[in-house]
Amino acid sequence: MAARAPTLVALLVALLALACSDTSSTDADRGDQPAAAAARPAGERPLDVILVSIDTLRRDHVGFHGYERNTTPFLDQLAEKSIVFENAYTTFSWTLVAHMSLLTGLYPSQHGVWKEDASLPPSVPTLAERLQARGYHTMGFHDSQWLGPRYGFDRGFDVYERHSGAAMAGLHLERAMAKRPKTQPFFMFLHLMDVHNAPFEPGNLLYEPPEPFDTLFDPDARAKLEGVDSEALWHGSETVTPEQHEAIVALYDGGIRYADTKLGEWIELWWKAGLLDHAVLVVTSDHGECLDQRDRGYGGHGFAFQEGLRVPLIVHLPGDLRAGERVSRPVSLVDVLPTVLEGVGSPVDPRLPGYSLMGAGRQREDMLYAEQPDRMEALYLWPWKVLRPTVGKDPQLRVFHLENDPDEQRPLTRDDVDSQFARVTAELLQRAATERGSWYVPDEPNPDAGPMSEEDAAALRALGYLGGRDN
Ligand SMILES: [Zn+2]
Repeated sequence: MAARAPTLVALLVALLALACSDTSSTDADRGDQPAAAAARPAGERPLDVILVSIDTLRRDHVGFHGYERNTTPFLDQLAEKSIVFENAYTTFSWTLVAHMSLLTGLYPSQHGVWKEDASLPPSVPTLAERLQARGYHTMGFHDSQWLGPRYGFDRGFDVYERHSGAAMAGLHLERAMAKRPKTQPFFMFLHLMDVHNAPFEPGNLLYEPPEPFDTLFDPDARAKLEGVDSEALWHGSETVTPEQHEAIVALYDGGIRYADTKLGEWIELWWKAGLLDHAVLVVTSDHGECLDQRDRGYGGHGFAFQEGLRVPLIVHLPGDLRAGERVSRPVSLVDVLPTVLEGVGSPVDPRLPGYSLMGAGRQREDMLYAEQPDRMEALYLWPWKVLRPTVGKDPQLRVFHLENDPDEQRPLTRDDVDSQFARVTAELLQRAATERGSWYVPDEPNPDAGPMSEEDAAALRALGYLGGRDN
């Protein structure tokens, strides 16, 4: 991509940061990096913020994490100029829950929006509200009923528009960017749905990327999948041959390449216009995807397993500051909001459980959480992961050592000779109880989101939700 010369602000930021750190390393686990914007001279216009969520993008299907297919040529280039977080986790593999964490900086049990009828309490500020209060012009573009005003996602946005597909998103973006007041810093939240499974409609395959992305990785995918019931696949009640499975994955990957292409078109334009010289750009996803992993069919977005909870996360800073850093310590989507706040020079909010990713806050020894409070939770204390059902009298815990078993194929058993199971579960459960005991939770209950329109309910059912997400 054609990066312009960094602005004065970016150069100052880079120089001040370099004075305090060693950016030649490829691993930023030293944790001694100063924040970019914390070093910004007083009186400078705050950095713009662009936050992109590519829904359902598996971490292991992007080029910059080693995927063999060329799914993300643009993001691969961007990643080379950015900080890449190798071990980023969502807060659960559901669009609603994860995006609420991304945009409030709170875990699901804190924001409380983990049921279809719960909306965000008014006292909990969203990222858009926080930035709007600091003088930002705020623009949100989304492609899902789960991100609608019903849940409070529109709060704090001067512009909050829904698109249907990336092509329409491009029109909305172009219009809003042209009309935005140029005297104000801006915050843009962009949600893309083009990697997600398609609605279960006659003639639709499970994934339906537009031409030519539908034939990019398997020219015969459509023919191979003729007659396959996508809805049954999603619910795990239909099986496919290995050849058909490969065709499904090729279509999923085609959607990734499409999203990557559109994102590349837009960001290249912003780059040429100099916007990236004065912006923090974050690209991530709300969750991964199942793709018949461990014979669980194609629904549920990977549930609480690694394929569902691991997400790509890259942060680009002005002037390509800290380009090429690869951060291996585990981080969470709840860290994105504190990172942005630090990037724009906002004071730390002690109520937030996350840390800015620019500094030494988040350590390898810190716990991470993924929560669906009425079903399952995953507790992480590197390299351990405990999966715990949150319902039932005697929930069966599963314990994994993620360094030795990154794909969760070999859970520890209770009768391990060295008693690791008992030791690990006791430690993680105890720490989780202590930490959660000190978490901020709003005083007020989550307001009822009110009735969902028939149209929205039908659209969500067509995607496998509202009773279908359990696969
Ligand atoms: Zn999603």
